[in-house]
Amino acid sequence: MTAPGAKPRLAVWKFSSCDGCQLTLLDREDELLAVADAVDIGYFLEATSAQVEGPYDVSLVEGSITTPHDVERIQEVRAASKVLITIGACATAGGIQGLRNFADVDEFVSVVYASPSFIDTLATSTAIADHVPVDLELRGCPIDGRQLLEVVGALLAGRKPVVSGQSVCVECKAAGNVCVLVAHGTPCLGPVTHAGCGALCPSYHRGCYGCFGPSESSMPESLAPALAAVGMDESDQGRFLRTFNAWAEPFRSASTVRLPDPHRRQP
Ligand code: SF4
Ligand code: SF4
Repeated sequence: MTAPGAKPRLAVWKFSSCDGCQLTLLDREDELLAVADAVDIGYFLEATSAQVEGPYDVSLVEGSITTPHDVERIQEVRAASKVLITIGACATAGGIQGLRNFADVDEFVSVVYASPSFIDTLATSTAIADHVPVDLELRGCPIDGRQLLEVVGALLAGRKPVVSGQSVCVECKAAGNVCVLVAHGTPCLGPVTHAGCGALCPSYHRGCYGCFGPSESSMPESLAPALAAVGMDESDQGRFLRTFNAWAEPFRSASTVRLPDPHRRQP
């Protein structure tokens, strides 16, 4: 691994994704300069074409596994990485592209592409942790830049990162927000969604739509009566849960029982 006195080597990898999480890292340009001083960036194609061979002390992995080639490449990334952190809804839950997991991919391919025979894809989009051991998962679509810097900073300082597993509601209370669900009747997934964004949407009087995925003790069933009280029927609730983190349990199960369709593949 790293020679004594050398800087830790960082790599940032992309699988199936829109690059939004990597851009979130680049957006923190002021802090990034300090980070760049403290690490040796070995691989980060969004930022530099320079490449340093592994092994890597820390790998950040964006994107989901959607092709046979992805399955092989993530094994190589894992083998070359001391610490592997997945970033974003794609990497931690299969992302929006995980919606295909509920349907027939061959049918999509036949409709979308002029020459389907050129397409080599898996029937599912799955999280990195479904394929290799992962040391830490950072949620969000995209991730929160401050949270990522906390994790990278903690690793450089040799301490445990402070990452909450609670719900957005806890962050809402800390921000002093009036509850949009209770006070305004706005549908909100905050009670069952992972913290990390600082309750961004409720702070602007909007409901949370769950882009950080399920919290550690998420129970969508317990939220159903409150959503029904503000006018969401069962299928509305199913679609509400089936967005960025549709394939993450328990959003996966709770949405599936609300969107029964015998022609669709069940999880
Ligand atoms: S999690 Fe969202 S922002 Fe990040 S790469 Fe996936 S789609 Fe883009
Ligand atoms: S409040 Fe919900 S939807 Fe909005 S950024 Fe946070 S987790 Fe995402």
